[in-house]
Amino acid sequence: MSQKRIAIFGSTGSIGTQALDVIRANPDLFSAEILTAQSNDELLIKQALYFNPNVVVIGDEKKYLAVKEALSKTDVKVFAGEAALAEAASMDCYDMMLAAIVGYAGLRPTLNAIELGKPIALANKETLVVAGDIVMRQAAEKRIPIIPVDSEHSAIFQCLVGEGRNKIEKIILTASGGPFLGKKPNFLVNVKKDHALQHPNWSMGAKITIDSATLMNKGLEMIEAKWLFNLDAHQIQVVVHPQSIIHSMVMFNDGSIKAQMGMPDMKLPIQYALAFPQRIANDFPRYDFKKPNNLSFEEPDLKTFRNLALATDALYKGGNMPCILNAANEIAVFAFLRNRIGFLDMTEMVEQTMAKVHFIEQPTLQEYFDTDAEARDFAASLVHM
Ligand code: NAD
Ligand code: MG
Repeated sequence: MSQKRIAIFGSTGSIGTQALDVIRANPDLFSAEILTAQSNDELLIKQALYFNPNVVVIGDEKKYLAVKEALSKTDVKVFAGEAALAEAASMDCYDMMLAAIVGYAGLRPTLNAIELGKPIALANKETLVVAGDIVMRQAAEKRIPIIPVDSEHSAIFQCLVGEGRNKIEKIILTASGGPFLGKKPNFLVNVKKDHALQHPNWSMGAKITIDSATLMNKGLEMIEAKWLFNLDAHQIQVVVHPQSIIHSMVMFNDGSIKAQMGMPDMKLPIQYALAFPQRIANDFPRYDFKKPNNLSFEEPDLKTFRNLALATDALYKGGNMPCILNAANEIAVFAFLRNRIGFLDMTEMVEQTMAKVHFIEQPTLQEYFDTDAEARDFAASLVHM
């Protein structure tokens, strides 16, 4: 395999830094061609000095001079701002984009990469939640693969390799249950951000960690799965599996179930997506069946974790409803992380926004953009204090 040039959008985040670990460990297979960050200029500079990419983009324009200055002795091209981020995705200097920006901000660059005909390793689930129909249609038109990085979707993708046209009866998305598994609303009402930021099995960025604590993450993943694997809503089931060893499963139309298992380590789905269809040998810790283990499964508690119920509603409703849900949730998580609202208020905010913003059955891309803006404005108007 010749060296694959990777454009990492969101290189300073949890996924981005782990992807760079994979690239560092496999210099014959990969190089980092584009690196982007929103505000962490120091880490972006360090990464650029080590990996010597063609291009770096810093989202926050106030940090442009610092980055430019620090890289002045290199031939790395430096750009800044939101427009530059989207333009960098359209530069024909890489072979695959790793979409590792968090939230709606990842949509535009990813669409530009698809437009350019570049395969996508997709971590940014919000892209598919917001505009999955358009993203998947454009990818199909360009005949480029969208390879999931999200561990559950990577598991399903791996289960489907070699299955050709065999029919899926359903997929079973596993959920760890997060730090508040088994808790009830009288407990959750008092939860503060520091507690919610502690995840039992995974270390991730702040937004997805909060989404995991509210189970919104699993709801977003149901919608992500619908688009990635072209499923109907009723074919998607969530089961709580607190050990996070089975990463997800596929049940085929003969009742046979395939599961993909392993230690919870995002480097594995990241390197699988970057190297697909090959696997890369590594020395990551292995799961050991000789040690006492007890893999368990239970139903999610939809009465307590109402975000999962709301996301399921959005999945069934379709149209711009998942986009509304996502926008309201981004505002809610942002407000919670700044101690502006309580843990359960996040759900209230999403629910009220879903009831308020007008529904569109088959939105255009512009209507998705407008929906996102309208939902954000409305959700933000609910945070008084
Ligand atoms: P993170 O917060 O650690 O990193 C986000 C990255 O995006 C950073 O590099 C940041 O600079 C950049 N960014 C943030 N806001 C931006 C903006 N407005 N414009 C441009 N760039 C911006 O997040 P993460 O945990 O790495 O997650 C990234 C994506 O991957 C999310 O969509 C998340 O749901 C998904 N994901 C993450 C994990 C995980 O283990 N962390 C697992 C599965 C899926
Ligand atoms: Mg996941």
